Amino acid sequence: MYDLAVKNGILYRNSRWEQNHIYIRDGIIAEISSREYDARTVVDGEGKKILPGIIDPHVHFALSVGNSRSADDFASGSAAGLYGGVTTYIDFLDPVGRGSQVEEAFKKRLEQARISHGDYSFHVTAANPIGETAPIVAEAHRLGVPSVKVFTAYSESGRRTFPRELEEFLTLSGERGTVILVHGEDEDHIITDSRFGPDDLSRSRPAISERDMVKQLCEMVDSRGGTLYMVHTTCGSSLACARERLGEKFGVNFFMESCPQYFFLTDERFKGDEGYKYVLAPPLRSQKESDKLKEGIDSLYSVGTDHCPFMQIEKKRSLLSRIPFGIGGIEYSFPLMYGLFGDRIIDKMTLNPARLFGLYPRKGVLEPGSEGDLFLFEEKADTIRGTGHSRCDYNVYEDFPVGGRVEKTLLRGKIVMDGNVLSEPEGRFLTREARQ
Ligand SMILES: [Zn+2]
Repeated sequence: MYDLAVKNGILYRNSRWEQNHIYIRDGIIAEISSREYDARTVVDGEGKKILPGIIDPHVHFALSVGNSRSADDFASGSAAGLYGGVTTYIDFLDPVGRGSQVEEAFKKRLEQARISHGDYSFHVTAANPIGETAPIVAEAHRLGVPSVKVFTAYSESGRRTFPRELEEFLTLSGERGTVILVHGEDEDHIITDSRFGPDDLSRSRPAISERDMVKQLCEMVDSRGGTLYMVHTTCGSSLACARERLGEKFGVNFFMESCPQYFFLTDERFKGDEGYKYVLAPPLRSQKESDKLKEGIDSLYSVGTDHCPFMQIEKKRSLLSRIPFGIGGIEYSFPLMYGLFGDRIIDKMTLNPARLFGLYPRKGVLEPGSEGDLFLFEEKADTIRGTGHSRCDYNVYEDFPVGGRVEKTLLRGKIVMDGNVLSEPEGRFLTREARQ
């Protein structure tokens, strides 16, 4: 007797579709088979696609920026994720400059995340860690969160990590398998002016700042090795640049993530009365760069959302310096990206993040021995309606076309979303392995 069976669905396994039954016991996929067995709960998967739960490697829940706090906490953000098939996500610790501060930052986020509906982990965030790169990496591994994010910009708030420390991180990464995440904007190209409004965002943080930083990052990876993961890549030209410069090292030492907003929204959004709603960094780009990103999709390693929306009352300001940066989207990442790219996007949102961030084979695949995280997807042309399940009071993807609808979501073999989120928060912290 199994705890739960999903019968007759069309399963995504090894990059193919197969019709089969999934049997789950104690939260783990016990068997995938065409045989008939009894189960306490039977989910009818007839005509539905069954996919491994989406892993969003880049979210910010309950983020404080100045006097603002992002609209979603760990409960509402992770619940919105369940409506989009997201069963696992990785958030970030507050930035630290010293190894001795990592544990406190970790405990703080762990406490905040206790109300999560999905399973979760964290990336450590470094801020100008002079003389402290090795202690930070050591703590990241000790706490089971072996990935460290650095910013190459934001020196005004003390968050920038300079090239020497970034190179140290890469050397440590080569030794220990730490993944070094980089927010890559070359600060030399960033212009700030206290009079700038939303429609100045593109010239304030131009595309060249990303492309120039990519060139520098490629050189560092080429000389130091290690594992570098560039978060929220905005430009198709950045992707092409890294691929050309690194050759065989691209996809081995250097991985690139992008987000749905850079495919579906362009810098035109910053113009007009509602430009404030779209303010984020790095900013939306031209149609041309967005098109290039689509052309380069097969070189992209993964998709994260950078989910960090703020209520309109917080965003609606005329000066950029007073607007908290960030938008939402965790609920729509898969339906949107699947609508645009079809099957080509699935591994980038499941298997790939699981592999790089030490969650495979526990997460990211439908295979015996893996946890029973999956969702039933009804493939059909559809449109996004309303503000969705985030607490944010506007939705940048309203009226956008999607490739289908997430009908049910299961976390460790339990139905957690079936039209509505059904259970109390049951998300667990995931200890991750270092990259081998
Ligand atoms: Zn982010």
